[in-house]
Formats: sequence, C-alpha cells, structure tokens
Amino acid sequence: MKLGRFVIDTHVHVQRHAAGPEFKKLGLKDPKKIQYKDLAKVMRAMTTYDNSKRLMYDMECYDVDMCILCSAFGMNNDINVELVEKYPEKFRALAFARETADKAIAGEIEWTMEAAVEELDRLLSTGKFIGVGEGMPSNPGGMTGGKTYTQTDRMDELRLVMDLARKHKVPVRVHSGTPMGYPICYTFWPENWHPNWIRDLAAEYPDVSIIFDHGGMQGGRWDNQVEECIQVAANHDNVYLETGLYWTDLYYKALADPNVGPEKLMWGTDWGASIPVQTQLGMTPQTYAAQVRKDGIVTHQVDVMGWSLKQVSRLDISQDDMNLILAGNALRVYNIDFPVSRMFRIVN
Ligand SMILES: [Zn+2]
Repeated sequence: MKLGRFVIDTHVHVQRHAAGPEFKKLGLKDPKKIQYKDLAKVMRAMTTYDNSKRLMYDMECYDVDMCILCSAFGMNNDINVELVEKYPEKFRALAFARETADKAIAGEIEWTMEAAVEELDRLLSTGKFIGVGEGMPSNPGGMTGGKTYTQTDRMDELRLVMDLARKHKVPVRVHSGTPMGYPICYTFWPENWHPNWIRDLAAEYPDVSIIFDHGGMQGGRWDNQVEECIQVAANHDNVYLETGLYWTDLYYKALADPNVGPEKLMWGTDWGASIPVQTQLGMTPQTYAAQVRKDGIVTHQVDVMGWSLKQVSRLDISQDDMNLILAGNALRVYNIDFPVSRMFRIVN
C-alpha cells in the first residue's frame, strides 16, 4: 500500500559520478579494491551523468510521486533543471553554487561566499529553483585548506546566504552528519558539527525556513547531533528536520517532542549518495545507513528508498500526521503547488 496521499523525497541526487576514467588515471582498475579515500581524491574533478532511469525505477517501485533534486560534490545544476523541465510533475530542484566551486578548484579565483551568493542569486532569479542546497555553500578547498574557520567567520558567511534566501523567499538547507566513508574535515562545513549555531540564524531570520539535511543522522554515529537538531527545531518555528536516514525510533524521538511533532519533519533519503545500509542483528538500531571504509566503495545503486520507507511504515501515527511528513510539510515550506485543496492538515 502506498504510504501517503502524496510522497515527496526531499533529498535526491539524480546525478551519478562517472568514476571509471578518473580511477584509471590513478591506476585503479578493480572496483572492489577502490577505497573511499581514492574516491574523495577524484570526486570534485569527475563529470556526472543523468541517472534518472534508475531513480524513476525506484520512484515507480515505491510509489514516490516527486523528488527534490539537489547537487553536491561535482554535480551540476543543468541536469537537474533539464529533468524539472521535462517532468514538472515529478521533480523540483535546489540551487547549488557549482561554477564558483569549479573556478576555485581550477585556481582561477579564491573561493568566497560573496561569489557563491552572487551565483546563487543568478540561479534563483531564473525562477527554476525552489531553495538552496544541499547544505550551505562551502569552500571546496576546505577539505585540505590548512586554515580552520572561527565561528564568527563562518556565521558571517552564512548570513549572506540567509539574506539571499530572504530576498528570494526560499528555504535553505544546513547539512548535518557525514556518510563516514570520505574524510569530511571540520572546516569544509563548520556548522555541520554544531546544529546549535543555527539558533542565531533562525532568530535573526524568522521569515526564512531552515532545513537540517539528515536531521543530524547521516552515517550512523550521530545520535548526539540528532538530539541537538531536535532541540533547535523545537525552539525555533522556522527550523525543520529532514528524516529519511532516521530509523523508526528516531522518528518517535522527534515526534515525542510537542514543539517538533509531525509538522517539523520532512522525508528525504539522500538517494544517489551511495550510503549502504548496515545490518547488525539483535542490536539497536538493527539497521542504519553508513559507509564502512574497510568494505570499499559501493558500486550498485543502494536501495535507500525501500529501507527508509520501511522505517516510516512502522510508525503508528495518524495518517494525516504521516501525510505531513511524507509531503505536506515539503509542499508548504518549499511552496510547491498541489492540485487538490484541503488534503493536508493545516499547520500555522
Ligand atoms: Zn545529499
């Protein structure tokens, strides 16, 4: 049975990295021997291809009506926009400051948030994007930059993105967690490790919606960040949690807080991010998503939608609450039209 009246996966990567040619340059031919650290070395230089055939297979298989497409690590805006234009009933896209990152990687410019925001302003002005993400823009050299941000440096950068989101009346996404395979440095996304930093932005920009990518849980070891994200969402009306990598108990944890509840949760799986689901029989949680470095990279299309919807299906909550998590909140916060009125509980 379909789990809700309308189902939106709010976190999807429809682009897949063409890794083979870059690995060949490194002399790596056997995919089973390729480690995440090898992938991290070449990821930003790789081209990506349209992986919508596999995505649409899963959408049909699991009755997912719409996906919000986002870019990260070398993915571009063009493929996402082409898909939105070709299938307007199936896709929406978030804006990603790819050009600024590319120029910085090529050594043509020094990466600045001002340049990233200028690019995002151009993208959002086309009307083809419904938000900024995934995550806040960040220096692609931050992985190895040799300089650690101060909190004030980074917060002032983030305020530039918030000003832009206010101007265009779109939500922003703040990343939380790591997939665990790649060594993600502190400076790449300082706010990623400190959900509480977002409190100042939420208070200064009450008219801008902020969504924590992954709601604190990406690669299996982030229960502390889930707690922190829930606390921030509970204290600020404009902060939301994306929950697609939550196992069932984590949904209940968020739902149990009366200042969070189903009105603040949005389902979104990170489909396409190649994070496999681990099984540990008899343990809690029995399954969770995480890259395991000793296993090497995953070469098949991980079935995260199937796993995640199974977690959601175990929730014994009203269908109207379920409908908010699976689509209603995303329709409202991202300002996506729905053809039939009064199908979702009104949230003030
Ligand atoms: Zn992602």
